[in-house]
Amino acid sequence: MTAIVLREVRLIDPATGTDDPRTDCVIADGRIAAIGRDLPAPAGSAVWRHPGSVLAPAFIDLHAHLRTPGQPQKETIARGTAAAARGGFATVCAMANTVPAVDDPERLAELATRCAAEGSVAVRQFCACTRGLAGRDPVDVEALVEAGAAGFSDDGRHAMAAPVLAELLRRTAGVRRIVAIHPEDEAVLAAANPGHPGAPSGWPRRPPGAELRAVTAALDTLAASPGARLHLQHCSTARVLGPLRAARRAGLAVTAEVTPHHLALSQPSRQGVPGVTALTCNPPLRRDADRAALWAALLDGTLDAVATDHAPHEPDPSGGSGRLAPGFSGLETALGALLSLPGAGPALPRIVAALTVGPWRVLGEAAAGSPCPSLRPGAPADCVWFDPEASWSPAADPDAWRSVGRNTPFWSMTLRGRVLATLHGGRLVYRWTPWSGGGPSPDDPARPPRPLATGVPLGV
Ligand SMILES: [Zn+2]
Repeated sequence: MTAIVLREVRLIDPATGTDDPRTDCVIADGRIAAIGRDLPAPAGSAVWRHPGSVLAPAFIDLHAHLRTPGQPQKETIARGTAAAARGGFATVCAMANTVPAVDDPERLAELATRCAAEGSVAVRQFCACTRGLAGRDPVDVEALVEAGAAGFSDDGRHAMAAPVLAELLRRTAGVRRIVAIHPEDEAVLAAANPGHPGAPSGWPRRPPGAELRAVTAALDTLAASPGARLHLQHCSTARVLGPLRAARRAGLAVTAEVTPHHLALSQPSRQGVPGVTALTCNPPLRRDADRAALWAALLDGTLDAVATDHAPHEPDPSGGSGRLAPGFSGLETALGALLSLPGAGPALPRIVAALTVGPWRVLGEAAAGSPCPSLRPGAPADCVWFDPEASWSPAADPDAWRSVGRNTPFWSMTLRGRVLATLHGGRLVYRWTPWSGGGPSPDDPARPPRPLATGVPLGV
């Protein structure tokens, strides 16, 4: 493997508290070989240089839907992990709401073999909490951990009653895994969607009270579950932050994530983008006051991690039925959405932490399957190199898009911050190429914005 020398990068390594504005980094034999000024380049090495670029540990996504098994029309392991690499992620946690759900050890083992063979980055598989995500019968937690489960979540649903959640928390405490919940109380959703057919995940009305009720009930259950760890997925409203902070003060082991889209968008901004009003996600985008409160909570550490909730869909997921198919394809736009936020510049070290050590600590070392992400010499070369200022738009270079799903509200927006390269174990899994589409570069500010291509799936 050719050694790589990165010249004059800004090195951000939250694990060591490093933010060095100008250093070199040598990567050789799959590891960080050296960090320092004016390092000699090993013979035959590739030398990379990009003014103003940042080198950081590769990102870890706590929350992605790779749609495998069962839904290759939405995503595949190969395309989903390629999207992860393009987004700067070398590890993704795959959710279990597949078809069928990942709820037994044989299915998990089979999937792990496929991920190792077909994936370009590491996949840590979550398993369902309950069989079929129905909320009734707990899975065989111990056997699933033995088979490699990174954690447990019924994400997409929240049908577990308190005694079932208590049982899951008790059993996962014994095997050092988290229970991650999609906090939307289904009784509140049912009341808001009277007579609406289909599964709760497709119900269109998602009042904020559903999130608060699910969070407070789960925290009550956690308080009675010694040794257990609870994780709150995709927090979307300001009102859950108070109970979260109070639970922390009371010593409960609770962590929480927020998505780039809940940090970047709110209902009015979503409605201002042509073609985007048809897109939807669960939980929905909220008021701007919620968005601002989530951003503040990420900065002050109340929220531990940014997670993409990468939820790709095919161009017409309704199949003509008009049913909602909630979710955004999020891996490729995560960094750009975050760095486009007002105030992102000074917060860059915190943003990097929320994509690296934050999610790693949420998982815990046993579940993460790797040491704490860091660029210390000797560490595995899982790293991301990015330009925090470069502007780009997914629509400007659609051929570069990796995910099967193009259902993103950011498709036609201009984002700031682009991944230049991602390495996983020293292997180059993504390298940005300036422009492969012919014609003027999409970076050229004079280039007219390209209209959305026909058939670009913007929801249902
Ligand atoms: Zn969810």
